[in-house]
Amino acid sequence: MHILDKTRNDLEEYFESIGEKKFKATQVFEWLYEKKIYDVNSFSNLKKEIRDKLLEDFSWDKIKIVKKEEDNLTKKYLFELVDNNHVEAVVMYHDYGISICVSSQVGCNMGCKFCESGRLKKVRNLNAYEMVMQILLIEEDIKDRISSVVIMGIGEPLDNYDNVINFIKIINDAKGLAIGARHITLSTCGIVPKIYELAKLPLQVNLALSLHAPTDELRNDIMPVNKAYNISQVLTAINDYITETNRRVTIEYVMLKEINDSKECAIQLSNILKGMNVYVNLIPYNETNNIDFKKSQKNTILSFYDELKRHNINVTIRKEFGSKISAACGQLRSKEVK
Ligand code: SAH
Repeated sequence: MHILDKTRNDLEEYFESIGEKKFKATQVFEWLYEKKIYDVNSFSNLKKEIRDKLLEDFSWDKIKIVKKEEDNLTKKYLFELVDNNHVEAVVMYHDYGISICVSSQVGCNMGCKFCESGRLKKVRNLNAYEMVMQILLIEEDIKDRISSVVIMGIGEPLDNYDNVINFIKIINDAKGLAIGARHITLSTCGIVPKIYELAKLPLQVNLALSLHAPTDELRNDIMPVNKAYNISQVLTAINDYITETNRRVTIEYVMLKEINDSKECAIQLSNILKGMNVYVNLIPYNETNNIDFKKSQKNTILSFYDELKRHNINVTIRKEFGSKISAACGQLRSKEVK
């Protein structure tokens, strides 16, 4: 087990199990996440015997940044994991702060037809420490604090549930990275049982659902996950989430030219979302060389937006970031895919 896989609770249990006081867990968290010191031997308020034990009982491996590309308000990082797999993360500078888009898996099995990240099938889940380190290493590189986190990089977070939840607990902990739950967004293609599970946790994170189509017929075509959990099942789960958590959910809708951007689609979408506490985020599609989908025209996106408004659906259009350096939504991939 890696030291950064551990929530503070886990570490408290660990210290108790070795006959030590549990507040030592908080001390370790302060070194790692507040002072950002990674060398155990500098943990001066812990005696040598405990430091040695920590070194022995946990892995202290580091992932590393192997490439960085920048464009105005966006930086994209390629990380090499200890087993030589690769994932990417993206940093975005907003007027309200700095956000990071982290990856949760090496590759992805969801097979969404329009998404570059899914061209490499899932190789493995990321451990919590590999997600935490994407943030730590980037903060060190940009010499600044990251204020919000979206789990929207490579991978399906709810297909790696336990590690993602531990990751969220660690970065949300006041003694961890202290990133407020309302500044953390988990985006899913709709793994229904896990949405119910998430609703029961006392975490106030934002949930976003990648819906992208208003009918099963169309969604089956572009998102194979719909054959396992259809629109009605996923929206029922989202309603449960809203009731349990009292939080508004984001519905992501990527605008694909002549696929899902007609007026009829807008009307159908309004009908299925009517009365739900959601808002729709229209995502201008980011084209990639390897995939045939095209982005909807600006005017089409605006008409779609107007149509939703006319039906009293809350809607925004996502600001575009990083498409020049292939750092935009759906453009991230692992290095090996040709
Ligand atoms: N697996 C998660 C998170 C990863 S993707 C999910 O499906 O939600 C983050 C968002 O980008 C998803 O809504 C995804 O459908 C969308 N996306 C994928 N490819 C895209 C592309 N080329 N352009 C714009 N958005 C894309």
